[in-house]
Amino acid sequence: MANQNIIIALSKGRIFKDTLPLLAHVGIIPQDDPETTRKLILDTNHPHIKLLILRASDVPTYVQYGAADLGVAGKDVLMEHGGEGLFELLDLNIARCRLMVAGRPDAMLKAGRLRVATKYTHSAECYFAEQGRQIELIKLYGSMELAPLVDLADCIVDVVDTGNTLRANGLEPLLPIADISSRLIVNRAAQKLKHHVIADLVKQLDRYLQAGAPQ
Ligand code: AMP
Repeated sequence: MANQNIIIALSKGRIFKDTLPLLAHVGIIPQDDPETTRKLILDTNHPHIKLLILRASDVPTYVQYGAADLGVAGKDVLMEHGGEGLFELLDLNIARCRLMVAGRPDAMLKAGRLRVATKYTHSAECYFAEQGRQIELIKLYGSMELAPLVDLADCIVDVVDTGNTLRANGLEPLLPIADISSRLIVNRAAQKLKHHVIADLVKQLDRYLQAGAPQ
């Protein structure tokens, strides 16, 4: 396949697990398991292809600045990043979920300014501005579900998959903001300078996804 070096940025956990079969399909096998190794740069069976293991929200930044050629990032992370200098090559249809407003069932009935706790501050700001609703944003980095329970916020904006985490905390999904899945992204320089290798990779992945890759 490639005789140009290709660096692919990925995050641990759900995205890595779901991306592995896609990579395997195009003949890329990592030499280490990111859940057990402490290495942040993983070799693959292919001498010219390496994987960077990053925090999910850093993947677009590494690709934007050219530290990685390609990346796999959730649409939620891309919406928050803004997508500057990046192109979405493929919807990989993995790590699917929804970005939602969630809270106690009556949360939206509050008159006046809503207090919204989230790590998705940009998406939340855009969504409520479109709705014409005044909000006060409270930036959090995790466990958003806790905020309404201790009256830190009226509602949260978070990604929801099964809704089990919300329900376990007495909260409900209230308003959908966006359908989320992971995307293959590239920066402008790699798209231009490594066009043939990347186009070939995208073609193979696209064919596999169109044929109904096992989810
Ligand atoms: P749930 O299945 O709705 O209980 O999801 C549990 C938690 O996992 C939520 O609080 C989310 O933060 C997280 N989560 C669910 N789906 C995704 C995803 N596709 N990407 C990233 N985080 C997710």
